[in-house]
Amino acid sequence: MVDDLKGALSFSVGDTHNGSRRGTVKLNRGSFSTPIFMPVGTRGTIKAAIANDIAAIGFEVILGNTYHLMLRPGVEVIDALGGLGRFSGWKRSMLTDSGGFQVMSLGATFSDGGATFRSIYDGSIHDVTPEKAVWLQEMIGADIAMVLDVCTNLPASRDEIKRAMDLTHSWALRARFAKHRQDQAQFGIVQGGSEVDLRSESAKFISDVGFEGIALGGLAVGESRDDMLRAIDAVVPHLPPDKPRYLMGVGDPIGVVEAIARGIDMFDCVAPSRVARHGVAMTFSGKMHMRNQKYVRDESPIEPGCPCVACANFPRALIRHLVSVGEPTGGSLLTLHNLTFMYRLIEGSRNAISTKTLGEYIKSIYAAWGN
Ligand SMILES: [Zn+2]
Repeated sequence: MVDDLKGALSFSVGDTHNGSRRGTVKLNRGSFSTPIFMPVGTRGTIKAAIANDIAAIGFEVILGNTYHLMLRPGVEVIDALGGLGRFSGWKRSMLTDSGGFQVMSLGATFSDGGATFRSIYDGSIHDVTPEKAVWLQEMIGADIAMVLDVCTNLPASRDEIKRAMDLTHSWALRARFAKHRQDQAQFGIVQGGSEVDLRSESAKFISDVGFEGIALGGLAVGESRDDMLRAIDAVVPHLPPDKPRYLMGVGDPIGVVEAIARGIDMFDCVAPSRVARHGVAMTFSGKMHMRNQKYVRDESPIEPGCPCVACANFPRALIRHLVSVGEPTGGSLLTLHNLTFMYRLIEGSRNAISTKTLGEYIKSIYAAWGN
């Protein structure tokens, strides 16, 4: 429909099993294997961790938040310092969101033209339009940019969901026309809430625009997991098979593996690092509340067999002590452990696709994480 700026991204599918698939995404400055989980570097860093540690776990792509970066330090500063990769010391690939989700969560007002919101830092008023979101992300310089969309919290009325979807579609076209950088891929975003027919309609519309990848937005915003999976099932059959599919904001282990089984390739979520800072460890046996008294003299690592820096060097007793007394290092170590868990969860899914055992793998994740 719109001029297709190919060249910034290519995607090849490898092993497949039922609806799931492995693949490789090649970008201008690097490549990565899918399925993939992307840690979220909200304000130029993963909270409580440095870029080298994130790379050492094996992550190939991280996400930056345009909303925060445009307000502080500002995209002109980031551009002057050589783009977000150089500025933040991350040498691999990067994706930036458009800020749509943050402005929605922070109570923006939407018009046909764009969104108006108040800065969380100093209360100043800002506008973001589909064109401005493209420009901001071209200045930030990520390898993959997201279009500005309109996300609705669920539950919401069908009218409200349809209005958000229609606006998302017209903004998607405006964003595609506004794109200039040939070395940056641009992903469109499917909306439609939990209305499955609207999800299908949105999938067809966004697929026709010619984006380098397609994201599913507006999920994990208050709906049940079953509703989320139904929405994914309504979307995936209408997406081009030769482009990566990104489920935005989903990072709970069961949600991730169920989505992988349905053909989703990319994920991001703040939860693994956020719960870490609240003393929660994610493991293949489920959640562990590290403040618990039962770990006070526990000499074993958080998760035996985990290769992370916390498990390789420190007993549960130390982690418990650090998080109990509020030492930031406790949150840092748990962040690295939880991100290592997410990396291994995805790696396990990739292997299970190749060995055609994804069904059993998903059962093991349900056994650890409940329903
Ligand atoms: Zn660990």
